[in-house]
Amino acid sequence: KAQVTLPTSTRIVTVSNQKGGVGKTTTAVNLAAALAHAGAQVLVVDLDPQGNASTALGVPHSADIPSVYDVLIDEFPLQDVVQSSPESHNLFCAPSTIHLAGAEIELVSQVAREHRLRRALEGYLESVDVAPHFIIIDCPPSLGLLTINAFAAADEVLIPIQCEYYALEGLSQLLGSVKMIQKHLNPALHVSTILLTMYDARTRLAQQVAEEVRSHFADEVLKTVIPRSVRVSEAPSFGQTVIAYDGQSAGAVAYREAAVEIMARGVRAVVATEGEA
Ligand code: ADP
Ligand code: MG
Repeated sequence: KAQVTLPTSTRIVTVSNQKGGVGKTTTAVNLAAALAHAGAQVLVVDLDPQGNASTALGVPHSADIPSVYDVLIDEFPLQDVVQSSPESHNLFCAPSTIHLAGAEIELVSQVAREHRLRRALEGYLESVDVAPHFIIIDCPPSLGLLTINAFAAADEVLIPIQCEYYALEGLSQLLGSVKMIQKHLNPALHVSTILLTMYDARTRLAQQVAEEVRSHFADEVLKTVIPRSVRVSEAPSFGQTVIAYDGQSAGAVAYREAAVEIMARGVRAVVATEGEA
């Protein structure tokens, strides 16, 4: 088993990409489970109205369940909606419900609308006995107010990139948004990690995409690449992450390696990206 270094203060990581279907949710939950497996305390905040992260973590999120919606709109304390995932005693989830679909619009008229999540996380960290080592935010596929709340609350952005056609399309828009948030709302925000997902080593295209991304983002791209694997896509229908569903599968092994890499490079990555800007 690889040596792991747990962070001394909570690392808040938002998994973002305004494109849908690139592996955000899959990465958020499997990375969270892999970090928990390695001994970290992890909270996943499900910011996508679809609630796929909540489902994959085996956490109930029907319309009557208190959720991130109540936190953002009605200022419920986050600790009141957090549930523990049946998968690991280290793994927690603030679920999303369908109500969150309306939050994007409802937030527009709210006071401090961009800072709702940040405030909630601050309250959470003050209230809990043991602060989590990681808070991982799963974003919806847009650059609307929910994603802006995630950007305002996080230190790190993790961008999953699908090794397929048009992989880099929209990336400059995403990086532009991160820069804007950095300037106006949250100077600590930076892209710490890029993760190549759904990699199919048999195709030239996947190799080309990987090479191109690495040439642009040498410091941010993880060495670990997540392979395309049926086991990864099957796991959520069992209410599980692939770590629990099939821990020996290639996808599970890759997410565990990615977790170790992220823990090991945490501090260095912060310094590297700040120096570049
Ligand atoms: P997003 O959250 O960005 O919309 P998802 O994580 O939901 O993307 O992934 C989109 C689809 O791709 C899902 O059906 C998911 O199961 C599948 N998928 C994600 N990663 C992999 C992988 N490594 N191998 C196979 N299927 C994957
Ligand atoms: Mg998703």
